[in-house]
Amino acid sequence: MNLLQRVTRCKLRTKFAVPIALLLITGIMTTSWYMITRQEESFRRELETSGETMVHIIAKNAESGVLFETKYELKDLLSILPSFEAFTYANITNKEGVLLAELGKWDDKKISIKRAKPNKETGIDASHDFFIRTIDGKEYIEYNHPVISYKEQLSRENLGMTGGFDKSTSPNVVTERIGNIRLILSLKTVNESIADARRTAILMALTVLFLAILILTLFVKAITKPVKKLVEVTDQVSKGDLDIEVEIKQHDEIGQLANTFNKMISSLRESRLEIEEYNRNLEEKIVERTVALEEAQAQLIQSEKISAIGQLAAGVAHELNNPLGGILGYAQFALEKMKKRAANGDDSDELKGYIQYLTHIETQSRRCKAIVQNLLRFSRSSRTTEFVETDINQIIEDTRTFVEHQLHMKQITLVVELEPTIPKILANPGQLQQVFTNLIINAMHASPTDTQITIKTHFSPAVGEFDGAVEIQVIDEGEGIPQEIQKKIFEPFFTTKEVGKGTGLGLSLSYGIIREHGGEIRVDSAPGEGAKFTITLPVQKLSDNTDISPKEILTPEKSG
Ligand code: ADP
Repeated sequence: MNLLQRVTRCKLRTKFAVPIALLLITGIMTTSWYMITRQEESFRRELETSGETMVHIIAKNAESGVLFETKYELKDLLSILPSFEAFTYANITNKEGVLLAELGKWDDKKISIKRAKPNKETGIDASHDFFIRTIDGKEYIEYNHPVISYKEQLSRENLGMTGGFDKSTSPNVVTERIGNIRLILSLKTVNESIADARRTAILMALTVLFLAILILTLFVKAITKPVKKLVEVTDQVSKGDLDIEVEIKQHDEIGQLANTFNKMISSLRESRLEIEEYNRNLEEKIVERTVALEEAQAQLIQSEKISAIGQLAAGVAHELNNPLGGILGYAQFALEKMKKRAANGDDSDELKGYIQYLTHIETQSRRCKAIVQNLLRFSRSSRTTEFVETDINQIIEDTRTFVEHQLHMKQITLVVELEPTIPKILANPGQLQQVFTNLIINAMHASPTDTQITIKTHFSPAVGEFDGAVEIQVIDEGEGIPQEIQKKIFEPFFTTKEVGKGTGLGLSLSYGIIREHGGEIRVDSAPGEGAKFTITLPVQKLSDNTDISPKEILTPEKSG
């Protein structure tokens, strides 16, 4: 991992704190170092300047003392030096190096380092100024200053002059080095002051550094704390917790960020609720559609089953129709013959027996023929169904006249509730009358005495692409139909009636007719609660498949 990668991985706090701290430390250290160095220099320069001034003054005043070697005068001159704190040693020697006066203690043998101090102005070594370090580590500055004597060469022009003369202006003044002054000043006090100043500077630097780091820490914390909070909340949000909020009450950029983030969470929350709502709706819709699909599938199976059975029945009916015709014909022929014989006076029991048998054969053959013809009708024979403008209410009234007598015999009341405003529809009146008759006779079979059967019509207005529908209901108070049977009642030959009473063709025939009219028939019932058959016929929509022959309504007998 290189440095850049390491830096990128660092926490925000580190990224802020480390560079600023480094900058602070470097800044404070550089400033302190610069100040200390400047102070050291100024302390030393002060001492050097004082020493130089001192040695210069003494040299100026020592000219006569050295010239005349008046030692007491020179000693007196040196006696002003001890008042100076850094003073260590001073002496005055003549030209030959003979000691004329000295003050203080000094041992040249103790010197460990002695080097010439560079001259500040010229940069050239000033051979008379030295830096000294003794073997015990003490530091000193040594000044050597010549004692100069000024002599005037008298010329003829100025021999008569009285008073002093000006050395600086007089071209005849000659200077001569007549002695030397050596002054040694201790650097101890200066070094102590420097050390003191250094300590103070370091202490101040450390204090400033400490305060700076403290402020920096608080500052970094003030920045990183809300960011940390933001990160925590983001983490929670990423785990799916949208009921959380960032609690940052700042008015700066971080506060704005927190506000925006809170808005983002709330819109996320709303979106999630919407999605959940969508999901719920979708689930409900899926359930709804699945049920509808199952129903449609069941209906499809039902209609396929019915049509398969219908085709089978049609085949059988075709095969039976002719032999049945033959049986019926021969039975009628034989019966006629027998009846003629009886009319001719034959009243034997044997003949009576044959007549009775043949009558049975004829009746049952007729019955069989009716069934076969129904079957053929159900199986869509080639004849074409004719549709005419039909008044449903009128068909129901007609049906009532057919069935009323039978219902009356069973003491069942027929209630007819017709909506007068229903429109006429295109239909085959004969077939519809057959359907209504079937439904009423079935209801009558299922109903006990003193109950009622209601037949109603109702118009449902146009919805969408449909022009509306006419609804016909046949409701009874009879035994009802168990749930498991409801699926089978429209199948051909399904009957619960005893042998000889029902053929199981009534509802399947009705089902076929209604489908041919583009409508539908359904049942609502529960055991013991009666049954309600509902037929819906579209007002305009007609099926193209109009190959069912119109039903001849001959008798109020059930066609099944
Ligand atoms: P069938 O009347 O010859 O039995 P259908 O096809 O007309 O044949 O009827 C089939 C079966 O449906 C009947 O056997 C009966 O079990 C049932 N069914 C029809 N209508 C009703 C009704 N209103 N109440 C009770 N059961 C009925």
